Amino acid sequence: MEIKLFINGKFVDSSDKIIKTSFDPSNGNEVAKYHVPSPKDIDLAVAAAQAAFTNPLWKNMSQDARADLLLAISEKIKERSKEIVDVEVRDSGSTLRKAKADVHNTAAFFKVMSKVARELKLNIIDEAASRAGFSINSREYTPVGVCAQIIPWNFPLVMAGWKIGPVLATGCTTVLKSAEETPASAFILAEIIRDAGVPDGVVNIITGGADVGRDLLNHPQIKKVAFTGSTMVGKEILKSIAPNITTATMELGGKSANIVLNDADLSIAVDGALYAFLYHSGQACDSGTRLLVQEEIYPEFMEKFLKRIKEVKVMPTTDANAGYGPVVSEKQLKTILGFIELSKSENAKLLSGGNRLMEGEFSKGFFIEPTAFEITPAHTIFHEEIFGPVVGITKFKTEEEAVSMANNSKYGLAGAVWSKDHARAHQIASQLEAGTVWINEYHLLNPGMPFGGFKQSGLGREMGSEGVMSYLEVRHVWESDCDAREKKVWLDAIF
Ligand code: NAD
Repeated sequence: MEIKLFINGKFVDSSDKIIKTSFDPSNGNEVAKYHVPSPKDIDLAVAAAQAAFTNPLWKNMSQDARADLLLAISEKIKERSKEIVDVEVRDSGSTLRKAKADVHNTAAFFKVMSKVARELKLNIIDEAASRAGFSINSREYTPVGVCAQIIPWNFPLVMAGWKIGPVLATGCTTVLKSAEETPASAFILAEIIRDAGVPDGVVNIITGGADVGRDLLNHPQIKKVAFTGSTMVGKEILKSIAPNITTATMELGGKSANIVLNDADLSIAVDGALYAFLYHSGQACDSGTRLLVQEEIYPEFMEKFLKRIKEVKVMPTTDANAGYGPVVSEKQLKTILGFIELSKSENAKLLSGGNRLMEGEFSKGFFIEPTAFEITPAHTIFHEEIFGPVVGITKFKTEEEAVSMANNSKYGLAGAVWSKDHARAHQIASQLEAGTVWINEYHLLNPGMPFGGFKQSGLGREMGSEGVMSYLEVRHVWESDCDAREKKVWLDAIF
C-alpha cells in the first residue's frame, strides 16, 4: 500500500521524495509506504485549506448540505468497513474485535455529526438579554478557520473521525496529521471524504513525526489546534502556539482511577477491572490503570482477578479470536518494560506478568504479558502514565480515602466506581476530578456526550455539543431596537 499526501483533493508525492514504511507490530510485516511532507508540502496543504475556507462553495454551503456530506461519509465507511478493518488490524496492532468496533463507532460518529450539523443554530436572538424598544441581542456563530489537527496511533481511524467530523459540521477546514506509526486508515478516510463530495481543500491529510507536527501547528494561517497525544507534547505545543494566541483543544494523557467498593458485584467488577486496563493492550488514554479496591473485599477480589488475568486471550492479531495483541512499536515496548523494571526496583509487589513474550508466534512482535503490581501512592507508577498493559492495585479503607487517592494525580481524564448501590457510587463519582466517570462500566463513550480531561489531561472537550462549539467563534451582535435620536442613552455622555 502506498500512501501519498492528500492535498487539495488529490493524492500527491512528497516534494522531497521522502518515503518511509509502517510495520505490523504483531509480526514486523510491512503495511504501507508513506510519503512524508516537506515544509513546502505543509505550506501547500495549509494554503489549500485557507482557499477552501473562503471558497463560496464551502463558506456558503447550507447546514443541510454539510449534514448530507457527513451522512454520506458515514455510509461510505460502512461500505468499506472490511477493508478498513483489515488495514487497521495490521497497521495499529488492533485486534479484529477492536478494529471492527472502531470502524462501527466512527461511522456512527459521522452520523451523529450529521444530525448535529443539521440542527446547529448559527444565529440565536437572546430574548432574555434583549429589551423591547432598546436592544435586540444575538449570538452569531462563525467557523474558527483553518485547523491543524494532530492525532496519535492508538485509535487512528476513531481519532481522525473525532477531528474531521466537527470541522465539516461547522464549515471549518483542516490539515490533519496522522501518526507515523499508523498512517493507513486516515488515507482511506481521505478517499471516502473525496468520494462523498467534500469540496477540494476542505480536508487535507498528511503523515509524519514531530517535525511535521511542529511545522503544521506553527503555520501563521492556523486558527485552531486540535491535538490528541501525550501531556508532555501538549505542553510543548501550548508554548509554541502562545505567540499567535491560537485557540486549542487538547486531549492528553491519563492515569485513571478505577474504584471497587465493598458492595460491588465481583462477577462483573473483576472482568471490568481487567477490561479497563487491558483493552488495546493498555494503549487507551482513559485506561483504568490505578485499581483501588476496598480492604475487606481485597482477598476475594484478588483471587478472582489473578485467575481471570490468565484467561485473557493474548494472541497475534492475525488470529480472529485475539482479545489482546501487541503494543504499537519497539519504542513503546521499551518504555513499558522500563516502567516494569522501575516498579520492581521500588519494591512494588509483582502479582502477575511482567515479561515480554518472545516464544513462537510472539517472536516477531512487541508483546508484553498483562501485568499487575500491588502498589501504594509512593510508587512511581501510581502517578506516571505508562500507556501499556500494566495496572497498579492499591487497597483503601474508607470512601473518603478512595476519593482522596483517586484525586491524587496530575491527570483527570476518566475514572470508574463499581458498587451495587448506585446512589453511593454517584456520591463518589461526583467528587472525582475527571472528565468521564463510569458507574459499573468502563471505556464506553457516547458521541453525543463530551469527552476530555480535568487538570493535565487536557483543555476543552471533543464530542458532544461542547466539542462542536469549540470549532466556532461567537460574535455578539447588538442591534438597536430604537432609532429615535432622543432615546439614545449615550447621547449626552461626551457632549
Ligand atoms: P505523542 O504526544 O508522542 O504524539 C501524538 C502525536 O503528536 C503524533 O502524531 C506525533 O507525531 C505528534 N507529535 C509529537 N511531538 C510533537 C510536537 N513536538 N509537535 C507537534 N506534534 C508532535 O503521543 P503518542 O505516543 O502518539 O500517543 C499516546 C499519548 O496520547 C498518551 O499520552 C495518551 O494518553 C494520549 N491520548 C490521549 C487521548 C485523549 O483523548 N485524551 C486519546 C488518545 C491518546
